[in-house]
Amino acid sequence: MTETQIVKGIVLSSFDYKEKDKLVEVFTLEFGKITAVLKGCKSPNAKLKFAFQPFCFAEFSIVKLGKFYQIIDAKLIDSFFDLTLDLNTYYLSSLILELVSVSVEFEEQNPYLFLLCINALKHVCYDNLPADLVVAKFCEDIMNMLGYKINYQTCSNCGMPYLGKVYLNLDSGAFVCQACKSENCLQISNQAFSLLKILSNTEYDRLGSIKIPSSVARECILTICQNLEHRLFKIIHSAKFI
Ligand SMILES: [Zn+2]
Repeated sequence: MTETQIVKGIVLSSFDYKEKDKLVEVFTLEFGKITAVLKGCKSPNAKLKFAFQPFCFAEFSIVKLGKFYQIIDAKLIDSFFDLTLDLNTYYLSSLILELVSVSVEFEEQNPYLFLLCINALKHVCYDNLPADLVVAKFCEDIMNMLGYKINYQTCSNCGMPYLGKVYLNLDSGAFVCQACKSENCLQISNQAFSLLKILSNTEYDRLGSIKIPSSVARECILTICQNLEHRLFKIIHSAKFI
């Protein structure tokens, strides 16, 4: 007999599966990212119809059946409903979920990222912090986690302090100075590069004190998303809506 396990998880995405079921990608604290079948959940009266919605943070009862898990029950902890009330906030928050999804392999436990993700969503949903700054900081954190810590002091190629323009080398994933810029480099504005540096030294709950145009935060997000796409060989679809 297969044992039922109780895990805490957040739904990253879901897809139709067979006529009445859904395949749900859940990032769990205990097992990392898993794919789980949720049976018969598409009817309006289905008890667990909340459990395939992105942002659903719940305690899931799961069993492993062959390759997939099956969700047999779920107790809602938080639906983060308010994230869906404003389109801009919704897209930025969806990017948090997608960044989590692309940054981890299946069944690779990562409690650090789990807490980072839940906290970032809470900050956007309840603390009224600027969503673009929270997501930009989340991007910075993801790069550190993946081992691409940004050197804000000196060019990663020649080791000299930055003078003038700064570029992201998409081949190496590191930032370089104008003299070391090669073909596959992307310029980042000095304002955006400075913002990333500020974000790296600012706790989430202090982000409200940063006054900067939204376009600069977005440039940070898009630069890091491009970098991640090159590092991970994956497309980050939500970045298109930012
Ligand atoms: Zn250089």
